[in-house]
Amino acid sequence: MNVLILGSGGREHTLAHQISKSSTCNKLFVAPGNAGTSLCATNLELDILNFEKVAKSIRNHDIQMLIVGPEAPLVEGIKDYFDEREEFSDLKIIGPSKRGALLEGSKERAKQFMRDHMVPTAAYRSFSKDSLEAGKEFLKTMHPPYVLKADGLAGGKGVLILKQLHEAQDELENMLTNSKFGKASEKVVIEEFLNGIELSVFVLTDGKNYLTLPNAKDYKRIGEADTGLNTGGMGAISPVPFADEAFMKKVDERIIKPSIDGLYKEGIDFTGFLFIGLMKVGDEPFVVEYNVRMGDPETEVVIPRIKNDLLDVLSKTAEAQIQDVQLEISSQHAATVMLVSGGYPGTYEKGKVISGLDKIEENKDVFICHAGTQKANDEIRTNGGRVIAVTAFGETFQKALEKAYENVDHINFKGMYYRKDLGKDLV
Ligand code: ATP
Repeated sequence: MNVLILGSGGREHTLAHQISKSSTCNKLFVAPGNAGTSLCATNLELDILNFEKVAKSIRNHDIQMLIVGPEAPLVEGIKDYFDEREEFSDLKIIGPSKRGALLEGSKERAKQFMRDHMVPTAAYRSFSKDSLEAGKEFLKTMHPPYVLKADGLAGGKGVLILKQLHEAQDELENMLTNSKFGKASEKVVIEEFLNGIELSVFVLTDGKNYLTLPNAKDYKRIGEADTGLNTGGMGAISPVPFADEAFMKKVDERIIKPSIDGLYKEGIDFTGFLFIGLMKVGDEPFVVEYNVRMGDPETEVVIPRIKNDLLDVLSKTAEAQIQDVQLEISSQHAATVMLVSGGYPGTYEKGKVISGLDKIEENKDVFICHAGTQKANDEIRTNGGRVIAVTAFGETFQKALEKAYENVDHINFKGMYYRKDLGKDLV
């Protein structure tokens, strides 16, 4: 089978690495890819939001499966684009329809969906420019801290958590009337603050049945001890030590099953990954958000723990035969440490030469996953904020982290930064 993966991050490198090992994988392409994906696939220069160009590539390379990594093409309706064209009726697509992608594309829609299908989540109300004053009044009835969320996609920056009522009221006004987050904040969800510890669960579904993939915990903040600005993710571990069997049973019964059943009942075409961000409050799970694709860097620790042939699992998903798959999950723990450019998540420079990659012996326990990298004249250079994720495996998450950090020591580029405290909050 010829496969095209859309995206250019660590998520796509990990997926490409796993799929390239499949016995049924013939040619593998990644668009636009990075220096890492070029090691196991052919990179294609392509604007992944230009569906006509994607279609042309699919024709030219005789692609049978399209895997959509990031959310933007899904929210823009890439699945619907191909479904509407007879010529692509045999193309297998991993990624939901536009209606399905709205679970990530609109926080108001996600909250309505949870309410309609009785999925536990924080109490909320949503407001628009016309209801600004009602929103300010509503805030008075809430307890601090106040959680304000821009309805649309805002690159992970659209959520504000504020301690003071007047700050929350001012920010609500900024979002609704001064377009703080552009179109994304034309509507704002105000919700109850959930006091707990976060984790993520991942589901692969054909829209009716589903497989629960390994869970993960990521580290979002740039600074040690979870301080400073939010990032795309500074590292992750899988499995999550505080998500025991009893807790995961609650997650399955109260959250995963009603969510998938809800999609089915509403007739939503959803073939692909559903990422459920959870807050564990006491022993109870609440949904913080849905994403309609895998997370990054969670993919780096979740996907390698799946022992099955990944392409086979994805094919069965696209054929709506996911119930035939028996997942085999490694008992090894996985950890990934993200190396980022100095200045990230603010401004940073690109083009720094990355040294030491050749000193690392990649084997079944260590995987160097490229994110923002680019190959130029036989050198690998930085090409983004998050540059490389060093993933390692071990009998415990501590051992996995230790091995990841040992390998991080070999790598260097000007301005390189990473968090040295991953996992310390869990012991
Ligand atoms: P991401 O960057 O993961 O895509 P996002 O911008 O889509 O995030 P959310 O995941 O809804 O937005 O919120 C971002 C973060 O804000 C969460 O990971 C969580 O730490 C915090 N948060 C969101 N909602 C709540 C809540 N109700 N109570 C406490 N914290 C919350």
